[in-house]
Amino acid sequence: MTNVNAVTEHLDELAEACRILAAEGHEDMTLGHLSWRDPEGRGIWLKRSGIGLGEVEGPDDFVLIDFAGERLAGAGNVHKEWPIHAEIMRARPEVASVGHTHPIHACAFSAIDQEIKAVTHEGVYFGGPVPRYGDTTGLIDTVPLGRDLAAALGEAPAVLLRNHGVAFVGESIGIAVLMGIFLEKACRVQLLVRSSGAPFTATPDAEIAAKREQIFSPALAEGFWAYYRRKARAG
Ligand SMILES: [Zn+2]
Repeated sequence: MTNVNAVTEHLDELAEACRILAAEGHEDMTLGHLSWRDPEGRGIWLKRSGIGLGEVEGPDDFVLIDFAGERLAGAGNVHKEWPIHAEIMRARPEVASVGHTHPIHACAFSAIDQEIKAVTHEGVYFGGPVPRYGDTTGLIDTVPLGRDLAAALGEAPAVLLRNHGVAFVGESIGIAVLMGIFLEKACRVQLLVRSSGAPFTATPDAEIAAKREQIFSPALAEGFWAYYRRKARAG
């Protein structure tokens, strides 16, 4: 039997997570979506289409879809790119939340043939190279395209979609959103240092794993997510 209160509580967090993404540079009109895996295994709670991330208010702004994209609950319309969520969650059983957005710096970076370097902490949080998906620059609106994107993501926490946007995942709503925020910040700072024209340094690959443990322990990650939630509530 579904614990309705637990679902509602998570959908409230998911709504707040949408607004946090909007506030952190991920808003692009009504484009962009975030999802959460239904704890009863029925499918995926996905932000409804037609409203911006910053306009998501609460549980009514989500629809429950199954892994074939059929709506099971909720009155809103389903984003065309629902296969991003279904196929990533199918491929990654530990993933509880998936985001897909068009943050401006990460979108710009997606068009540059350069790897993201750990210029600041943000580049370290990924624990390794951020993969790229480049089979199409169009919408990921079919199951085969969703499957290809999930394959490009592999075991990573985020992927750049060339000339399109980003996708990011986590074992919780908070971790997924943090990954989205870090990706945009990492791309932004790398564009800044590259545009300076000066040579720059980055955390060496050999240091990444140890540094990640220092700066992104589970307790720190929880604290970072709590910070963004407090910030959102403070307005
Ligand atoms: Zn898209």
